[in-house]
Amino acid sequence: MTTTRTLVTIAPGHQLAPDAAASALRMFAAGCPVAITEAWRSTATQAERRDQYLTGAGAFALPPGKSRHEVGEAVDWKASAAAWVRAHPEHGWRFTNRREWWHAEYFAALDVAPRPAPPNTQEEDDMFLIRDAHGTVGLSTPTGLRQITPAQLETWWNLGYRYPAGMDALADGPMAEVVASLGGWVK
Ligand SMILES: [Zn+2]
Repeated sequence: MTTTRTLVTIAPGHQLAPDAAASALRMFAAGCPVAITEAWRSTATQAERRDQYLTGAGAFALPPGKSRHEVGEAVDWKASAAAWVRAHPEHGWRFTNRREWWHAEYFAALDVAPRPAPPNTQEEDDMFLIRDAHGTVGLSTPTGLRQITPAQLETWWNLGYRYPAGMDALADGPMAEVVASLGGWVK
């Protein structure tokens, strides 16, 4: 029997269930490295891993149907991200197996991190992406311009932020001049 599951892409080749994905995207926006070994995996893949484990050819794996990877609520993080996630428990992730430092599961009830303003609200109107003719990207916020990297741009885009119409004036000069005229980047 096939279960249809809603999955959201959080990084190329990696998907999670919607709530866990939203949390992951918030963490990336907050500075968590996008460094993932595996997120969602199919039950077929889980069965393969279990077979490999039972024949001594692979690491420990739960039987198919028992892993939270299969429901898109677990991530095997690479070391840099695992350290960040461990240091920021407010996002709802817990490392549930002390023999697997990389494996964390998402608990919505433990996710108390502040939410960015959702799209189409008054607050969202105050924050938007800008880009100059040289490709430098920034996030305009009520307190000033915040510098973001190309990798972070994808995260902010996934969170619903867009280049608004009518902001072309900022592209007239290099971003550096715009930023200087505003007194520098804000944090
Ligand atoms: Zn895992």
